[in-house]
Amino acid sequence: MPTYVILLGPPASGKGTQAAILKDYLGLPHVASGDLFRYNLKHQTPLGLQAKTYMDRGALVPDDVTIAMVLDRLAQEDCAGGALLDGFPRTLAQAQALDHALAEHGRRISRVLNIQVPDDVLVERVSGRRICRTCGETYHIRFKPPKTPGVCDLDGGELYQRDDDKPETVRNRLSVYWKQTSPLVDYYRQQGVLVDIDGNQPIEDVTAQLKEALANL
Ligand code: ADP
Ligand code: ADP
Repeated sequence: MPTYVILLGPPASGKGTQAAILKDYLGLPHVASGDLFRYNLKHQTPLGLQAKTYMDRGALVPDDVTIAMVLDRLAQEDCAGGALLDGFPRTLAQAQALDHALAEHGRRISRVLNIQVPDDVLVERVSGRRICRTCGETYHIRFKPPKTPGVCDLDGGELYQRDDDKPETVRNRLSVYWKQTSPLVDYYRQQGVLVDIDGNQPIEDVTAQLKEALANL
């Protein structure tokens, strides 16, 4: 039975950071909706240009477009054994569409990890977030600094700050999270697959708690 693990949590709660570690632990591909949108944007595809207008404002990209993009990714061969989902689903409609698509193949969500971090901490994390332009590795100027400022440890790529990580947009993204995404916590809790994780700890401690929550998969 394929394994589907969802990392649920507000912007900058550490989903991407933890997914980069857990994908090897679980042996599953990391499927991040935000990364898929940014990839399309970089290559100027129609999907990327459509998504940009929403991303720039910190709003969610419409469900139909997002659902089609992620389900398409999950249908690829490397996802035959399941996936580690990061940033999707983010609305009830997305969660229902995912459940429905999996059920068609007799599959279901294995576990949802609900990473909890207070809003003021999230704002601090976002403001120091830096990303490698070539490989997408994530750093933080204080909490996970690269060895040389502005340069990726892994491939020497240039580190940049995401356009939507500016303070005005972040406040909007947080309110979008509380309005549109946080209802998923109850949705998955009722399915009995949700585990709460304290995301307000050092990166290694969060990883340890996540691994414990995945131990009996
Ligand atoms: P973060 O984890 O910091 O919130 P992401 O990289 O996951 O950022 O998402 C960046 C932006 O991409 C979001 O603000 C939104 O515009 C868009 N996006 C990503 N995932 C989804 C989704 N599941 N539904 C709608 N929009 C999404
Ligand atoms: P998300 O994918 O949920 O938006 P990221 O993994 O990109 O979040 O993390 C947001 C920022 O916070 C990054 O700069 C990252 O280096 C940093 N970060 C992630 N986890 C922690 C942690 N446990 N403590 C401090 N900083 C963290």
